[in-house]
Amino acid sequence: LFVEGPLAEGENLDLDQKQIHYLLHVMRLQAGGEVALFNGRDGEWLARAGEVSKRALVMTVERRLRPQAAEPDLWLVFAPVKRARIDFIVEKATELGVSVLAPVFTRHTAMTRVNEERLRAIATEAAEQCERLSVPEVRPSASLDSVLAAWPEGRRLILLDEGGGGAPIASALAGGSIGPAAVLVGPEGGFAKSELDALRALSFATPVGLGPRILRADTAVIAALSCFQALCGD
Ligand code: SAM
Repeated sequence: LFVEGPLAEGENLDLDQKQIHYLLHVMRLQAGGEVALFNGRDGEWLARAGEVSKRALVMTVERRLRPQAAEPDLWLVFAPVKRARIDFIVEKATELGVSVLAPVFTRHTAMTRVNEERLRAIATEAAEQCERLSVPEVRPSASLDSVLAAWPEGRRLILLDEGGGGAPIASALAGGSIGPAAVLVGPEGGFAKSELDALRALSFATPVGLGPRILRADTAVIAALSCFQALCGD
């Protein structure tokens, strides 16, 4: 279970009503029961339930189960797609280890707003389910132009280029680690021609292909991140 506060031996946890409801009524936790917790900083800890009543639960942190491990420094920059597919993208990208989820509006992006709070909740649930010890940061949605204008030095942009302009992703990633990187995936309508030309010309961009077929944006995300996981470590 993800918690916001510090985790250390003897700490009594300040759980919110939603977490208490989940532990008591979904997990059916009883007095003396154990739960594994993480907060993205202090590793994984075992906590034990003290007194349990209908709406109150005291949990005390007992001991560390796993240290906080280093995680891949991989961002996913994605054009928001329809609700069910954006949820799927966030869930799968969390399972596949991204550290940052950055929704960006491109010329052909049909969606006009993103509920970042909902995406944070989905990422949190996915992190809990796959037992990673951090939740990816969900950035406020922004225009692609503004994200590119503030691009951090030294971070490679892996451009998922459906136009066949790039090398196969496996050869672009061959050799293992490529350092800090971000995968950029376009919207349902694809990138505009002028956008693709500008993206391909960026000094920090590497256009890559995912094979001869045009994949849906959510499929492209899974295909690209799976390649990262297989070729660039964990
Ligand atoms: N119209 C479909 C849909 O409803 O999802 C296809 C969308 S596809 C154009 C969306 C994005 O997926 C593209 O902008 C690109 O970033 C990525 N993509 C799809 N197929 C790809 C491929 N074969 N190679 C590289 N990127 C691809």
